[in-house]
Amino acid sequence: MKRRTWLQGLAATIAGVTVAGRASAAAAPVSKEIEALQKNWRLLLAAGVRTPAPTEKIKLSNDEWRKRLDKAAYHVLREEGTERAGTSPLNNEKRAGVYSCAGCDLPLFTSDMKYDSGTGWPSFFTTIPAVFETKKDFHLIYPRTEYHCVRCGGHHGHIFDDGPKPTGLRYCNNGVALKFIPKSAKA
Ligand SMILES: [Zn+2]
Repeated sequence: MKRRTWLQGLAATIAGVTVAGRASAAAAPVSKEIEALQKNWRLLLAAGVRTPAPTEKIKLSNDEWRKRLDKAAYHVLREEGTERAGTSPLNNEKRAGVYSCAGCDLPLFTSDMKYDSGTGWPSFFTTIPAVFETKKDFHLIYPRTEYHCVRCGGHHGHIFDDGPKPTGLRYCNNGVALKFIPKSAKA
């Protein structure tokens, strides 16, 4: 009985150490770095550019969206379409700046959050805070996490868990759903 108690105690200690070890790794300066990228996104915004807030919702009919968007952007944003891989000029966009929603101009990502995933779609490992909502979709056989703009509801892409450290996330975004505003742009 005594020995059993001791073993249980040891197991609990080991479990405790493991959990604590993981927790401290996740909460280390790395996530502070991501927090800073999220909090300071306006540093990448061109001077004088006015941007809407996520809370200023837009609701339009399909006809109104058709007038506002070109065919490719309409298909992705309003019909959850996917552009052909490698077709977006934003794949090769390396300048400093902000990526906003092509439907409603809400800022979604900065150039500091972008990386080259080699997939043929603009890819980001984190986002500006509170700009997306997610849902599971079953368009393919397996469920995927779809994300859409919180302001206009426009579909942007899917989140995968094969992104770079520290977030490990890949926001696989359709280029036609984005507008790039270089930091050097004149408002
Ligand atoms: Zn939007």
